[in-house]
Amino acid sequence: MSVPFIRKNDQVIVRQGKDKGKTGKVLSVDPDKGRALVEGVAMAKHFIRPDRSKNVQGGIMEKESRIPLSRLMLFCPDCAEGVRIRSKKLQDGTRTRVCVKCGTVLEPGK
Ligand SMILES: [Zn+2]
Repeated sequence: MSVPFIRKNDQVIVRQGKDKGKTGKVLSVDPDKGRALVEGVAMAKHFIRPDRSKNVQGGIMEKESRIPLSRLMLFCPDCAEGVRIRSKKLQDGTRTRVCVKCGTVLEPGK
């Protein structure tokens, strides 16, 4: 079984599109749609309707929108760039992801 390519809390870099070169933390992944929400990436304006009963002022709010996983690469802090990863089996049998270039383990939150 392959290790999921990108997961929540990963540091990623955008490879394509208007946010190319931006890095950010993965806020959530939607594996069914193959999309992810990345902090500060693909900001889109959302219009909020004022609602007095809920004490909502209304206006324009900027919020991330989901982008295809194919546009993302894991970001390696040691290489300071987007890198390809490989799966490595640890002694206890669990799999981890490592940078192909420098061998750094890319498992945020561990
Ligand atoms: Zn690296």
